[in-house]
Amino acid sequence: MCGKAIKYGETVCSDKCQEEYEKYLKKRKMYIYIMYIALAFLLVMMFLQIM
Ligand SMILES: [Zn+2]
Repeated sequence: MCGKAIKYGETVCSDKCQEEYEKYLKKRKMYIYIMYIALAFLLVMMFLQIM
């Protein structure tokens, strides 16, 4: 996460990095969620246009 070398099998090197890593995952999850909503919205719009 911070660029330091980490042990095999571990994703982070310290508790501080663990926090950072969770923040990063949360942000990414949120981003994916927003993408899905936008995609669903787009599909609905296309569907309404066809109708
Ligand atoms: Zn780290």
